[in-house]
Amino acid sequence: MEKYEKLEKVGEGTYGKVYKAKDKATGQLVALKKTRLEMDEEGVPPTALREVSLLQMLSQSLYVVRLLCVEHVDNKKDGKPVLYLVFEYLDTDLKKFIDSYRKGPNPGPLAPAMVQSFLFQLCKGVAHCHSHGVLHRDLKPQNLLLDKDRGILKIADLGLGRAFTVPLKSYTHEIVTLWYRAPEVLLGSTHYSTGVDMWSVGCIFAEMVRRQALFPGDSEFQQLLHIFRLLGTPTEKQWAGVTTLRDWHVYPVWEPQNLARAVPALGPDGVDLLSRMLKYDPAERISAKEAMDHPYFDSLDKSQF
Ligand code: ADP
Ligand code: MG
Repeated sequence: MEKYEKLEKVGEGTYGKVYKAKDKATGQLVALKKTRLEMDEEGVPPTALREVSLLQMLSQSLYVVRLLCVEHVDNKKDGKPVLYLVFEYLDTDLKKFIDSYRKGPNPGPLAPAMVQSFLFQLCKGVAHCHSHGVLHRDLKPQNLLLDKDRGILKIADLGLGRAFTVPLKSYTHEIVTLWYRAPEVLLGSTHYSTGVDMWSVGCIFAEMVRRQALFPGDSEFQQLLHIFRLLGTPTEKQWAGVTTLRDWHVYPVWEPQNLARAVPALGPDGVDLLSRMLKYDPAERISAKEAMDHPYFDSLDKSQF
């Protein structure tokens, strides 16, 4: 780790701190992320190796943050080596970026062309992961990094711990946000698929337009109520099998509201795309690949991506 000069803490996520650092030899800025993939006497466990090589493969896409290398470090406290992932450094994440439009000196909407471009890049990155059989499962604005000058969005925080469920609390006991979690996950479905990521993409799309979260629940139950109040309480007719999911209860019965009213700044094509990302039945939800061909993107110059 002597190769790097630690500059500042840029994030405090689910598993540890993320530092901005400089490669002393090249001057390149990097992000150092400590993983919870601890090594034992035998060296790097094969599960950790698999995760790292998967991450390396996925980060070949321009729309996934690039993993530059992996460093082993002896942990000072207990002598157990720890793995650090070294990523390319990006200016900011989508959460900080949206906040700057909400609370900054000149608050205002994100330009519609920027929302369109970021969403397209997000779909492209998600399509790339899904085509390699990898679900992200925790897509949210904090996990999308931005290169502001070049207008590039990249998916981060991918691939580690796919065998585990996303924890409810981080190591600092911060509550892990539920706002982007798909209803089938909230209802305890055990075999969920790519649709969970597309639900999150829909929530992120709406949040870029609104500059505030679409479904800001603070418990799993409240999260479902937020969703049901806008989209209507799901029925067996809309979503076959919903009432047999593990955590299904009897909920208040709400009628679906007009989705366009939740995203007043979005035109009809955008609202249509959003409604396809927020379909209750995961099998009916639009895929990332299909989304890229949706008319909402017709006015975008796709050749630049
Ligand atoms: P966690 O699993 O702890 O959530 P993340 O990879 O999401 O870890 O990183 C936490 C935060 O650190 C991100 O939300 C982002 O603000 C910042 N961050 C992570 N990676 C980078 C990077 N490559 N460049 C700049 N900032 C980063
Ligand atoms: Mg994160």
